Amino acid sequence: MFGYGWGLDPTFIILIPAILFAAYAQSKINSTFNTYLRVRNSNGYTGFQVARTILDNHGLQNIPIELINGHLTDHYDPRKRILRLSDAVYNGNSLASVGVAAHECGHAVQHQEDYAPLTIRNTIAPVASIGSQLSWVLVLAGLFFGWLQLLDIGILFFTVAVLFQLITLPVEFNASSRAIAMLTEYNLVPVNEVGPAKKVLDAAALTYLAATIVAVMQLVRLLLLRGRRD
Ligand SMILES: [Zn+2]
Repeated sequence: MFGYGWGLDPTFIILIPAILFAAYAQSKINSTFNTYLRVRNSNGYTGFQVARTILDNHGLQNIPIELINGHLTDHYDPRKRILRLSDAVYNGNSLASVGVAAHECGHAVQHQEDYAPLTIRNTIAPVASIGSQLSWVLVLAGLFFGWLQLLDIGILFFTVAVLFQLITLPVEFNASSRAIAMLTEYNLVPVNEVGPAKKVLDAAALTYLAATIVAVMQLVRLLLLRGRRD
């Protein structure tokens, strides 16, 4: 998304540390996930069994657990109230599998309890999704035609997308802390295996943090570009 004529302007430099951090976070989640995907949890439970146990214990028997294609595609769908787990998590009995399964259950429980950051996140999600795509069109058109109002509207849309990223952080961190608590509470993993499961979730949290920092720095860059045109 870097248009001709401004892709290599000096403000690009402020993005470089954020992009490097994002690359580091991505390699960290891949290596941590792959490491603990090879470590079987000593109870031998699959991600599906762990998720079903947690959901049932929370009175969420009505939430189905589906298998979804792909790698790290696991998520809870709040609109359809479905938990979707990738093959490695659904059928796997590794520490990574049970950690991720419990994390996604954390989102389902947040939804059940109307956890405020999740409610806010779901409310602004449609605007943020349109905003993050439309903002660049408006920004590039605004810069190209030198029409500052268009640029400002683009920056406003992008700001909503950044707010969405920011509110995602407490949602993700909280789902992971719930996951660790529930794995312990229902004796799904022995105490000495909680640490490794937490490492996987901490690495995943790092990718959300990195994505947020990239978005914030992009916003700073847009404001710098805007400032130069006054
Ligand atoms: Zn999550």
